[in-house]
Amino acid sequence: MPTAAHDKVIESERRPGQPRARLPVVQHPWILTLDSRGLPHRWISWQAACHYYALDMVAWVVGNRQFRFVGGICRATGLRSEITANSIIAIKGRHFRPDSHSQVPPLNNRELFHRDRHICAYCGDRYSGHILTREHIVPVSQGGRDVWMNVVTSCRPCNQRKSGRTPEQARMPLLYAPYVPNKAEYLILCNRQILADQMDFLARHLPHQSRLHVP
Ligand SMILES: [Zn+2]
Repeated sequence: MPTAAHDKVIESERRPGQPRARLPVVQHPWILTLDSRGLPHRWISWQAACHYYALDMVAWVVGNRQFRFVGGICRATGLRSEITANSIIAIKGRHFRPDSHSQVPPLNNRELFHRDRHICAYCGDRYSGHILTREHIVPVSQGGRDVWMNVVTSCRPCNQRKSGRTPEQARMPLLYAPYVPNKAEYLILCNRQILADQMDFLARHLPHQSRLHVP
């Protein structure tokens, strides 16, 4: 087991046996972890991935992207420590039991706007994030809850016009329906630096209604 901290990504490469391709060097890759059923679990830093490799906690690997991490010199052996990590890894252990795939992901504005493709649910125009708001379909003042199924993305003018009314009361019909992202979709929504093989893997686990299917 390496004894030195791994502190440098020196290159990214294809798996052995596959043709080398011109790939951009990713200095701070996020590694996608899978649970024991092979379902997407969460993003971890490359340092955490090295930790799992060093503890022999990687059950199997997926994906065609590899990263080589170089650390310091081991005092005992005089050798420089080095770990090669895949972009997608399944982790052993109780924290990676198959219990979280169906859990409802936390509701955040950034992921909500991304779910709705930055399109206002009332006027249909696309906006940048600072113009957008989290809009409660059934207003909180009327008992509406702050959950994925009761919120849509709205521009500020539409939000102010609708005010504390339901769409029916305000005569502002929704242009699209809300839905709860599953774990795979949430992982896509909250990482802007997804590698191609990670995206391919996650896309296979998207729910049918996901708007991420729309090109
Ligand atoms: Zn609007």
